Amino acid sequence: MPTYLDNHATTRLDPRVLDAMLPWLTERYGNAGSATHAMGREARDAVDASRARMAAAVGADPREIVFTSGATEAINLALQGAASRHGIRDGRPGRILTLATEHPAVLDTLDHLARRGLAVERLPVVPQSWPGLAGRIDPATIDAAWDDDTFLISVLLANNEIGVVQDARAIAEVVHRRGGLLHLDCSQALGRMPVDVDALGADLASFSAHKFHGPKGVGALWVRRRGRPVRIDPLVFGGGQERGLRSGTHDVAGIIGMATAAELAVTELPADVPLMRRLRDRLMAGLAAGIDGLVLNGPPLDGILADGATLRLVNNLNVRVPGVDGQTLLATLDAEGLAVSSGSACSSEQPRPSHVLLALGLDDDQARSSLRFGLSRFTTDEEIDTAIRLVAAGVARLRSLGR
Ligand code: PLP
Repeated sequence: MPTYLDNHATTRLDPRVLDAMLPWLTERYGNAGSATHAMGREARDAVDASRARMAAAVGADPREIVFTSGATEAINLALQGAASRHGIRDGRPGRILTLATEHPAVLDTLDHLARRGLAVERLPVVPQSWPGLAGRIDPATIDAAWDDDTFLISVLLANNEIGVVQDARAIAEVVHRRGGLLHLDCSQALGRMPVDVDALGADLASFSAHKFHGPKGVGALWVRRRGRPVRIDPLVFGGGQERGLRSGTHDVAGIIGMATAAELAVTELPADVPLMRRLRDRLMAGLAAGIDGLVLNGPPLDGILADGATLRLVNNLNVRVPGVDGQTLLATLDAEGLAVSSGSACSSEQPRPSHVLLALGLDDDQARSSLRFGLSRFTTDEEIDTAIRLVAAGVARLRSLGR
């Protein structure tokens, strides 16, 4: 078995999630839209129950949950759906803000909207030269960039490369004072920190089941109904499922898997957080002891904010190894059975340096010499020790070869 420390890319399906899904992939195969017979109705009831469980896990009302094929689709629905509803302001194309460090699912969707005439601005984050808050967006930056055409900002609650957690409440305060909408990409947050979409002050929020030990290909968009109801247009038309916001036959087993995984993410959080933090700190200490000049990318590992929230996901580590080419090191580690990465899964195969690290102010060489680790509730002490040994040995070998 490989040593898997790439849990920002995807996580292992929890066996309890698989157990919950299996009957719905075998004998209970009714279509949740078939109201005329018992098999359809039991599937519909299962989807309804899953919606309630998913909602409870993130502080939502069940009617606010729209199941999708993943966070990419949820993000597209949020951004394109809001642009379609709110994009033209007083006859002028509207404007959307985002952060330079967002996931490609947000950046590429906004590039698409920009080609259609919408104005898009990527805001800078606090650079690495100010390590205490590296990767954070200052709400004042948002306030300064907001203008009358701006109707939405999309913010990654917890970054998939450097784990930085944004101050959603402070951002929401600015956005709502300016009369706009806040979309939070919560893909990396659930199961690693408490997530209550209402308390965070969001208007739209995206989730992906495979990031918290659920199945791949299932996600959800939360669309606020309470207090300040949010209206968006659908992207996919057809049978009118999901209150018309996402037509298409429900993936019943996937939805049940997502809800089960979300429930576990919440009930196991008190045990998972200290476990992942302890192992992540052990990994950092071991790497720092074994590798000369190792540098942490992103905010401090133990950063705690005034409100008690953590500044960085407890399962994340991102380090740079001066003088070593990350791609060569990754290939060496891969050959030894260690799964880690240099950044977002979607861009890992491209030799381009991470846009997140560049946005922190790192140069190309620094970004290229960086490694990202992601832990999970299934990570063990043995895996951490194996990773430390393999990375330290790989670095020593490459350095001795001058690479
Ligand atoms: N947003 C973030 C922060 C992610 O890490 C990912 C997964 O790579 C996504 C969105 C896309 O999620 P999905 O794989 O469910 O489409």
